[in-house]
Amino acid sequence: MKRECLEIVRNKCENCMGCALGKTRTNMVFSDGNPMSAKIVLIGEAPGEMEDECGRPFVGRAGQLLNNFLAEAGISRDEDLYIINTVKCRPPENRVPTDEEKSACRKFLEAQIDIINPRAIVLCGATALKSFVATDKKTTISKLRGQWMNITVDGKEYPAMTIFHPSYLLRNHSMEDGSPRRLMQQDLSEIKSRYLSDVEHSADILFSTDSEKEMVTV
Ligand code: SF4
Repeated sequence: MKRECLEIVRNKCENCMGCALGKTRTNMVFSDGNPMSAKIVLIGEAPGEMEDECGRPFVGRAGQLLNNFLAEAGISRDEDLYIINTVKCRPPENRVPTDEEKSACRKFLEAQIDIINPRAIVLCGATALKSFVATDKKTTISKLRGQWMNITVDGKEYPAMTIFHPSYLLRNHSMEDGSPRRLMQQDLSEIKSRYLSDVEHSADILFSTDSEKEMVTV
């Protein structure tokens, strides 16, 4: 049923001219990952040149770097994640999508999240963060990354964490303690242990109070 519902949304996106990006795209970039097994929805910014060419999100150098971090954390891109962007068509010159473009594409993104019904959402980069969390000029991704918060999508609350976008990490090579790459490792490890461990998740579902959970996990 999930696949059929997603296919309906995909068909709508294929011919969409809901914003100006529809005129300049080569391919609409719908998603990646296995919708049947995905437990986390990861939301990036927008398709870049290579994504536009092949119709898949997070390919190219940034995508490869993300793959490396995911593998290191024990997160399967193909099975644990369902990956989408705030817009499905490439903004010219890889510019940041405008509020109007994000708003035009929002109904598709919300429909996908609703169908997947993930345990949690990962906001990858500042554009994804600002699409779901009210921020002011002083708010930087460095301040908010790594924190769990609740976000509301189409009336339903989901736990969410913001992480750095891999494009940012391509420009920051340091692996020292406290560096963006170290923090990315830390954040993915936290996501893995909290939402991709079936034992812990089962305990969350089966036992309603912390004391009950402690009785089981001790
Ligand atoms: S970005 Fe979204 S709203 Fe704009 S044309 Fe593409 S699918 Fe339609």
